[in-house]
Amino acid sequence: MHWKQALLDEFAAAGRWLLPAVCPLCDDRRDVHLPLCGSCLDTLPPLPEARCPRCDLPYPAIEGSPHLCGDCITSPPPFAAVCALGPYSGLLKQAIGRLKYHRLPLLDQPLGQLLATTVRRRWPQYVPDLIIPVPLHPRRLRERTFNQSLLLARVLAKTLSAPVASRVLHRVRHTPAQQGLSAADRKKNLQQALRIDDKLNGRSILLVDDVMTTGATARACSRQLRLAGAAEVRVALLARAPRHLQP
Ligand SMILES: [Zn+2]
Ligand SMILES: [Zn+2]
Repeated sequence: MHWKQALLDEFAAAGRWLLPAVCPLCDDRRDVHLPLCGSCLDTLPPLPEARCPRCDLPYPAIEGSPHLCGDCITSPPPFAAVCALGPYSGLLKQAIGRLKYHRLPLLDQPLGQLLATTVRRRWPQYVPDLIIPVPLHPRRLRERTFNQSLLLARVLAKTLSAPVASRVLHRVRHTPAQQGLSAADRKKNLQQALRIDDKLNGRSILLVDDVMTTGATARACSRQLRLAGAAEVRVALLARAPRHLQP
């Protein structure tokens, strides 16, 4: 089911009134309980149905029953599953750009709500012990003044009734240009840039990020969380870059 209808059904079931307000993406009118206007919701690109249940990437073929993709079989990721709101393209890509670089009008709430609804529908019974945002390096945080993944994590926390732990996972080193490095060097670089201050004894973690391209960051963070004792790591993100954008 398309999630615009799903959202409308949820609000109708709750008996809420739908009052007009302004869409943060196009300034058109929207129902006050919907995160975006109807036409923006319709324009958000959907992910293809046939996707790997672990990394959420579409299969090269259009159809296929659920099975692990080749990458997840040959190099099993340290996370158990990924849930993305949509592909990194079209209106979703624009919205993420505005969230990260302009932050006006505020898009963390509407995008976070859409992601939370997607996570709820994908994993109906799932309640993580902790929600952990992918950290920004302090220098990047100073430049941008906020960590978009933390903003999204806070919105997810309300829907999933789980606490956000924003000080557990740190980025201690800047990882500038990764281009030109071998995959192994990139992996080592990222791994050394992360530090965990707590023991996560058997906890289940929901890692939150905005965009997953190669998956290297999500893998490095998940690996560190597992090494610190997490029983399971799942990843929630706004957008999954399609295969052809990956190096
Ligand atoms: Zn709109
Ligand atoms: Zn996969």
